[in-house]
Amino acid sequence: MTNTKKQFALALHGGAGPVAGRDYAVTEKHLSDLAKDCESWLTTGRSALDVVEHAVAELEACGLYVAGRGSAPNSAGHVELDASIMDGRSREAGAVAALCDFVSPVQVARGVMEKTPHVMLAGSGALEFARANGFSEVVDPANYYTLPVGVTSDDIQDTGHGTVGAVALDKSGGLAAATSTGGTFGKLHGRIGDTPLIGPGTWADDAIAISFTGTGEHIIRAGGATAIAFRYRSGVPLVDAVEETLGEVKRLGGDAGVIAVTSQGEIAMPYNSAGMKRACVSTTTPLTVATFAGN
Ligand code: ASP
Repeated sequence: MTNTKKQFALALHGGAGPVAGRDYAVTEKHLSDLAKDCESWLTTGRSALDVVEHAVAELEACGLYVAGRGSAPNSAGHVELDASIMDGRSREAGAVAALCDFVSPVQVARGVMEKTPHVMLAGSGALEFARANGFSEVVDPANYYTLPVGVTSDDIQDTGHGTVGAVALDKSGGLAAATSTGGTFGKLHGRIGDTPLIGPGTWADDAIAISFTGTGEHIIRAGGATAIAFRYRSGVPLVDAVEETLGEVKRLGGDAGVIAVTSQGEIAMPYNSAGMKRACVSTTTPLTVATFAGN
């Protein structure tokens, strides 16, 4: 799609699992700095695909979110990571599921997209691919992974989940989305949620880019990101397309949040959980960062 006004737009999320009453000032500062960094990439003409990969890799590396470094172990004691990335212009996509021992699952997901004929690699196959292609540094799980800052093992059940994601529109009209997670706390060994699934967790085409966070089982059953994309393409305004899909997640018993940007430069960041760590900026929207309503 042409972007004659050379607009850009960016939205980031750090998960729809924040606990009401907690102080997320450190996370908000991190999101704000990262959004400014991504804004400079977009204003200098970097592609939406590069920007969302960069943003999610930074979110994975910092240990503040339930993704990458901040991921919690599953019920068998392993950290299993899921990530996906999609280029709206080409509709190419890549994903990894239940990947262990790597710093940046989103970079491996992009590798799957660019270096294989496949969309997703899982488990030991994803690990072999990542090792063979040297996409990101291998870590010692016992010393690398940490609970996200501010989360203790006692309040894992309260915190529940928290993923990271990025969506962007670049000045040439390209849209892209990426999402990464350690999954839900206490998940079963081998459990895979919406995050690495192209369609439910992550979607980008020539009209819209979307990243979901929330209870993956309900997001998948509600149709997730593609349900929003199809509503939007059929003429439903962005806000309604997102709210209708979130309503469906709620009706099925889950909670979730969404970030979306469109080829028109619109941004939506609604959620039906207690809050969602989020940030956005565009040609027409000043940098905005929040966790709960009204902050
Ligand atoms: N959607 C993720 C999952 O179900 C969790 C989250 O977004 O917090 O794995």
